[in-house]
Amino acid sequence: MSTTHTTIERSPVVAVMGHVDHGKSTLLDYIRKTNIVDGEAGGITQHLSTYEVTTESDKRITFIDTPGHAAFDEMRHRGGTVADIAILIVSAEDGVKMQTKHAIEVITKNKIPFIVAINKIDKPNAQPDNVKTELMEQGIYVEGFGGDTPVCPISAKTGEGIDTLLETLSIVAEIEEMKGDIERLATGFVIEAHRDPKQGISATLIIKNGSMKRGQYVVVDDSITPTRMLRDFMGKDLDEAHFSSPIQLVGFDKLPAIGSLFSTFESKKDAEQAIAEFNDIKQELEEARGIMNIPEGVALIPIILRTDVAGTAEAIANEIQKLTTEDVIFKIIKSESGDINESDIKLASSDTNTVIIGFHVGEDSNISVLNEYEAVTIKKYSIIYELTEYLATLSEERRIKKEVEVELGQVKILKTFSRQKDKAVIGGKVLSGEIRVGHSFKIMRKDGIAGYGVLTGLQEGKMETQNILEGNECGIMATSKEEVREGDILITFTKEIQ
Ligand code: GDP
Repeated sequence: MSTTHTTIERSPVVAVMGHVDHGKSTLLDYIRKTNIVDGEAGGITQHLSTYEVTTESDKRITFIDTPGHAAFDEMRHRGGTVADIAILIVSAEDGVKMQTKHAIEVITKNKIPFIVAINKIDKPNAQPDNVKTELMEQGIYVEGFGGDTPVCPISAKTGEGIDTLLETLSIVAEIEEMKGDIERLATGFVIEAHRDPKQGISATLIIKNGSMKRGQYVVVDDSITPTRMLRDFMGKDLDEAHFSSPIQLVGFDKLPAIGSLFSTFESKKDAEQAIAEFNDIKQELEEARGIMNIPEGVALIPIILRTDVAGTAEAIANEIQKLTTEDVIFKIIKSESGDINESDIKLASSDTNTVIIGFHVGEDSNISVLNEYEAVTIKKYSIIYELTEYLATLSEERRIKKEVEVELGQVKILKTFSRQKDKAVIGGKVLSGEIRVGHSFKIMRKDGIAGYGVLTGLQEGKMETQNILEGNECGIMATSKEEVREGDILITFTKEIQ
């Protein structure tokens, strides 16, 4: 690792996210076609998973097409922060949809700065203001609608507004003040990997920090490649590459995992040493998991504990053990005294459920610049109570939510009137709670559950109604495969995630 730090401004890596068909690919293709001036780029007709452009104001921006892409899920899983900025694309015609909500979740969870692009404004049915209101319902307040999230109306088809979008991106990037150290050995993420019968294994990587030169070695988990065949995203040979650039490397010995971090080394020996360390860590984690034998539905939170003195570690370990519940198990996989160091971070990044807890310790100065590890959870405390409070909150967050049946009401069947196919008309009395049209029920008979159905209509006297309260008799229209009989009790319920 370099000891001189030549930290300079770094151009942003931008991910476009949004619902399918809202125009991600069209936008990315438009930007690529209009902003890559290199002659060769014109020849690229296929969609690229990542590329770099220079804007009119001479700013470089790297785009990645991650939405729905397996890599992005994996990167999220790893807690990686491959994207510095996100563009949340929403169709002005369709508004907020399921994957829009999902994208918002990813963006907010990872605290990625973002811009909203309202697309398809060329369409006659475009209603950009509706989109803004719908976003408000999701807790996203754009400029002019109660907040300061930048919003750009665009048409990925005609190109309208895209210049402004790119300028806005540059402004957000400036505010974020992204920095990189050009002297460091390159680190970053794997975006794509392919096995080609002729060339062997090639991968597309994004350098998030540092530089890579020919003659070095790149390691992803336990796969390695020399940097002999180093190319830019268009396949042009390079002698070196720097942060924020997408590159291609050919010659991996194993298919690198998409979303994984990569590191660069000067010598093969150093690279092999890193692989040995990786294998050790993997074994450690497997052993930790093996010993625990975690049952399904139970969340494991591995903890790396760093304390000023070994004595405190024991006291804290005791407190942590007390927090284990039937749903969440805390497991200290490493406990050492001294500052949090790079090996702790590597261990944590191989399983992002891991939390590094520092008690009365700092961080080794070398790791503060590793921006690709930003998303590894590091918490530092000097009061035990605050530490345990944090872990208790984390435990609630990580608990694997279970679907439970919540009983709403019970009705006893007094009389059956008619039954045709699945539909029955019956009479009953509500024993407890209330019953409501649309609710599901289970049919209880002496042997237990006889079947399931749905209430399709209710009558009290001659009046149709939506619900009947405890103590009242009623007429019931119900649909069920199993016939409802006199004497049965119907229990209505909903399912809740708890
Ligand atoms: P993706 O699934 O988000 O990548 O969406 P695509 O980029 O494949 O776009 C889906 C469809 O919408 C395609 O038929 C595009 O041509 C069309 N489309 C995308 N952007 C616009 C736009 O700004 N205006 C119009 N009229 N159509 C668009």
